[in-house]
Amino acid sequence: MRRSLVFPGAAVAAVMLVAAGLAAADNKPKGPKEDGTLPALTKIAGEGMMNSRAYQYLTELSDDIGSRVTGSPAERKSEEWAVAKMKEMGLENVHTEKYTIWRGWTRGTADAQLLSPVNRKLHVDAMGWVGSTAPGGTDADVVTINLFDLDEEAKNVGRLKGKIALVQAKGKPKKDFMMIFADFGNYLKSLSNAGVVAVIGGQGGSRSKGMNLTHTGILGFDADFAVPVVSMTNEDQGQLERLIARGITPRMHINVQNTFTNGPVETANVVGEIRGSEHPEQIFVVGGHLDSWDLSQGTTDNGSGTAATLGAADTIKRAGLRPKRTLRFVLFTGEEQGLDGSYAYYKQHKAEWGNHLGDLILDEGQGIVKNFQMGGRDDLVPVMEAFADSISNLRKVKVDDKIESGTDTLPFSVYGLPGINMEQETAEYGYTHHSAADALEAQKPDIMAQNSTIMAMTAYWIADRPERLAEPWSDAKTAKMLRDQHEYEELKAFNLWPYGDLGQEKTDDKTQ
Ligand SMILES: [Zn+2]
Repeated sequence: MRRSLVFPGAAVAAVMLVAAGLAAADNKPKGPKEDGTLPALTKIAGEGMMNSRAYQYLTELSDDIGSRVTGSPAERKSEEWAVAKMKEMGLENVHTEKYTIWRGWTRGTADAQLLSPVNRKLHVDAMGWVGSTAPGGTDADVVTINLFDLDEEAKNVGRLKGKIALVQAKGKPKKDFMMIFADFGNYLKSLSNAGVVAVIGGQGGSRSKGMNLTHTGILGFDADFAVPVVSMTNEDQGQLERLIARGITPRMHINVQNTFTNGPVETANVVGEIRGSEHPEQIFVVGGHLDSWDLSQGTTDNGSGTAATLGAADTIKRAGLRPKRTLRFVLFTGEEQGLDGSYAYYKQHKAEWGNHLGDLILDEGQGIVKNFQMGGRDDLVPVMEAFADSISNLRKVKVDDKIESGTDTLPFSVYGLPGINMEQETAEYGYTHHSAADALEAQKPDIMAQNSTIMAMTAYWIADRPERLAEPWSDAKTAKMLRDQHEYEELKAFNLWPYGDLGQEKTDDKTQ
């Protein structure tokens, strides 16, 4: 700087411009064309697009095992299947990592009949981890409660005694979906002792998408409820709502029977690795979740993520490649009960957290990958864009710094690492999500192969590029980021906020 003072003005400006240009070029993140990873990625692209086994894995998982509720015999069978597949393709250090969830649950039956003003069968299925009606069921009147006014509703649960409560969204939401989800869980707790016969309402109180499908799911993080809550098809619920709007009180029969275990049940994440050639201690996690709901085959949630992960591992193995750092493929269980598998993973690997680079998750159904969400790490957006540019012939993928809190990316983001979500196109997922339509028919084989190939290329690039992608942020920096991304309220509501007062903006304005 000081030396430049000897130059005349114009020359100084020119020199500074050149210097700035050079500096910019040096700082610009390098993509595969500049960082030496291109030949390996080309090989992976070829193997993945020509020889992918992802759809074959998905077919086996869907047709030979089927639905896989965490802690159920079928879910355990899927763990054994995944271990066998990982060993077969030659992954290293293949094993399961056991943990327990608070309580197990088995679906029984759910039947409903409209008794008046007309008599007809209604289509319902129990939500996950909810209780039962009296044996044989009960006849009761249907009354509505407003999802967008649960604070008021909670003060007046007495009126629901002996009734069936129909959850309706009236007016405008005052909070975002995850906060309504949290409030709805708290509200259901208050109903459990109020003598309510049953509740009609989906995850977070949401109403089903059409085509006569019910959508099951959990009603909180590790939450169970004594009151039976059912998802009713959009078409049937529509009729009840219209009747009530006209002042007619529908009367219906409902019989829901489920069973809980008395105590915790065991489950396990399935792990296999391709060990790094230069920094084997540095780990990048790649995965999806093995568990599913049980109204169909669990193909799109999250058989597709499981198959993409196994397909990606197999593709890299068959390409004969070993990255500089370790790729750890993890098939989580317990995702559907509240990200239990990925939280268990964090707890079990806390000691080596500093050696982790982040995780890469595919869990949004059957659609194309359209965006890499970098899980709060805005510093990594330009880095990832350099990679995304390089695969634009295969798929145009955007990059942003958003956090996906609804899948196994969350614990990574909460503990300072990029929980990278492969955001997908979800038009069809709205129908298959936790419904009876979540079967193999929903996944197109070409999209499965493409998504798995993109996963393989992304994972390999991150593990093999010269520079380490990321190290965990400090607690203070992470806490600030989570607050800036509006995750604080939600994490707090679900008892997942680990940082106390950290990250709060210190403004003295009020005290001055
Ligand atoms: Zn899922």
